[in-house]
Amino acid sequence: MIRYRGRFAPTPSGPLHFGSLVAALASFLDARRAGGEWWLRIEDIDPPRCPAGAADTILRQLEAFGLHWDGPVRWQHDRDDAYAAALARLEAAGLAYPCSCSRKQWRDHPVYPGWCRRGVSDPAKPVAWRLRSDLGARPVAWPDRLFGEQRFDPAELGDVVLKRKDGLWAYQLAVVVDDADQGISDVVRGVDLLDNTPWQRQLQQALGYPEPRYLHLPLILGDDGQKLSKQNLAPALPETDDAVRPLLHAALTALDQAPPDALATAPVDEQLAWGIAHWEIDRLRATPHRQGHAPTP
Ligand code: GLU
Repeated sequence: MIRYRGRFAPTPSGPLHFGSLVAALASFLDARRAGGEWWLRIEDIDPPRCPAGAADTILRQLEAFGLHWDGPVRWQHDRDDAYAAALARLEAAGLAYPCSCSRKQWRDHPVYPGWCRRGVSDPAKPVAWRLRSDLGARPVAWPDRLFGEQRFDPAELGDVVLKRKDGLWAYQLAVVVDDADQGISDVVRGVDLLDNTPWQRQLQQALGYPEPRYLHLPLILGDDGQKLSKQNLAPALPETDDAVRPLLHAALTALDQAPPDALATAPVDEQLAWGIAHWEIDRLRATPHRQGHAPTP
């Protein structure tokens, strides 16, 4: 039996929008189709970016769309000790180092050149913590289930930040520690995160964690051709059933699953049951997709 555990891991910087619905739905369908579990993790490591109430709104929105998760919700704000233990392990192995350099100092370089690897440049200044990328000569490579073979040169990735100068944990460290701790076998998320994945693979290797499989999803554009995002003021997902039904259908369409037209008015559980029964990632096309439009051939 294949052991599958997926997750949806939103940052509660605002309510979910159509782009987040597509990511949540794809990871849900992929997990359920495989007879697996689907967990929810709220990535609230950056409190100034997370307005009060946004996480509760996200939970309500997922419920309204019938996307019921397994297990308790994981909150990253509770996870300081686990992230600190991982950083301590990397430091003890000589793989993480404190760095006082400012972005301004290395602005003429494509990535941070590693000046603090052999000792912090200015001990009087606050430090960030970085991962050493220069110790393994191997390229970082993995097969993405949609975008195919990926290969990155460690020299081009640079020494990724694990803990910020302001003391907050960096997304890369938190996501890797939690994916491993929660036993996540499959990561399904938007293609905008694809270029973060090589740092996460490096960290998984440095920490001796298992490496999940990855499926990155096509970019979803709004009707104006712009990427849907909170910054672009993408509208929040509705929570009322009459508005939810056609939008769930549009999300199935955006995932190239070609749901029958009649399904657009069906209850969410019926739409999801159809989606699980028919889920096929071979239908997904890697090109950007417009919200709510069938893909043009
Ligand atoms: N928290 C990230 C976001 O909302 C997603 C993390 C992930 O799926 O790995 O963009």
